[in-house]
Amino acid sequence: MGTQERIVVVGASLAGSRAAVTLREEGFAGALTLVGAEPHRPYNRPPLSKSVLEGDDDVSLAGSEEIEADWLVGRAAVRLDTAARTVTLDDGAELGYDGLVIATGARPRRLPEEQMALAGVHVLRTLDDALELRKALADVRGRVVVIGGGFIGGEVASTARAAGHEVTVVDAAEPMTRVLGRTVGSWLAGHHRAHGVELVTNTRVAELVGEGGRVTGVRLDGSRTVPADLVVLGAGVVPNTEWLEGSGVHVDDGVVTDSRLFARGHGDIVAAGDVARWPHTLFGHETVRIEHWSNANEQGAAAARNLLRGPSEAVPFSQVPALGTRVHGTRIQYAGLPHVADASTVVTGTPEDGKFAVAFTREGVLVGAATVNFPKELTRLRKAIEARESL
Ligand SMILES: Cc1cc2nc3c(=O)[nH]c(=O)nc-3n(C[C@H](O)[C@H](O)[C@H](O)COP(=O)(O)OP(=O)(O)OC[C@H]3O[C@@H](n4cnc5c(N)ncnc54)[C@H](O)[C@@H]3O)c2cc1C
Repeated sequence: MGTQERIVVVGASLAGSRAAVTLREEGFAGALTLVGAEPHRPYNRPPLSKSVLEGDDDVSLAGSEEIEADWLVGRAAVRLDTAARTVTLDDGAELGYDGLVIATGARPRRLPEEQMALAGVHVLRTLDDALELRKALADVRGRVVVIGGGFIGGEVASTARAAGHEVTVVDAAEPMTRVLGRTVGSWLAGHHRAHGVELVTNTRVAELVGEGGRVTGVRLDGSRTVPADLVVLGAGVVPNTEWLEGSGVHVDDGVVTDSRLFARGHGDIVAAGDVARWPHTLFGHETVRIEHWSNANEQGAAAARNLLRGPSEAVPFSQVPALGTRVHGTRIQYAGLPHVADASTVVTGTPEDGKFAVAFTREGVLVGAATVNFPKELTRLRKAIEARESL
């Protein structure tokens, strides 16, 4: 155990709260402060694009209620001074630390603000976003246009369709092809179409258009305008790192850490969750930033343990990323990093049957898996990825 007396965790969501829980579990008895920009205690985001949109308000995050700490919620960190070891908050308060956990996550990418300001335009990241979108889906009849067919876009499209809306998904590629590969990507495109979703692929959005302050359409590159009564922008996220500017903490699409989650060159600062970019030892030390629940959860815990151990005793974080989603009732899952593969093959089932598994290899070694309606296969392949099996 290190000699820290004061640990500050910035970002009070999944990774931050899991880090705090772990610090206490590991016996840290010093002063622990959690700083969170949202006005809420930590909650769970996955239900926001699923059950919350359907009317269920349960977003509880197990374990976060009991953390013994000073909670500063509704307060944002605006500056970090690594030499003085202080974090400055938006009200001017300064917090000193011996150890710091950076867990500030990410926020949705936006279009120009005058377009975002049109009524009927939504993003989905926070509980407040989800409650607003739920109300809008109930109030508005007509066409919902989802920009971005990734995990969140796919879930929103599927929920909106089930609620009886006309739905168009616009994507710069085939939905999820980059993450899940071409076979699953094309199967998914057919699945959306079979459920009555209009898919506009390989097309970029030029701008949102409106009338009287309300959105009326999405103008695409090439001049077509898709009429829209509601627009949900699911075009990826950007990590929340602005508060680190000038601090000396290295940022490059996330806080760049070593394999043990220490901010490069800082033995008293760790990062975890959607904000962290680290070299993954299982995938040739390729640096990755993963935006999934289980990664943030496990990484929060691992970062906390490493912070207490100190750099000389810390261990690399090498959990295999994994994520699942449901689109029009069908379970789609993946594990590993399919996008780093140089080959892929269907190993079980067939796309025609709507139940199949795809394995991804790099130089013959398994690096990823994607499954449709096949959780057992995902579990098997995930273990094989961990064991660096060849195909
Ligand atoms: C709608 C939705 C559905 C999802 N569904 C799934 C799913 O089905 N499966 C899955 O694996 N993953 C899912 N995810 C992703 C998963 O929720 C995230 O990976 C996880 O929330 C990341 O946790 P985090 O703590 O790293 O970051 P975040 O949850 O983004 O939390 C970061 C926190 O830090 C705060 N913050 C930011 N800047 C500051 C600052 N300067 N000072 C203080 N606080 C700050 C933010 O306000 C935020 O509360 C979903 C995400 C969303 C939005």
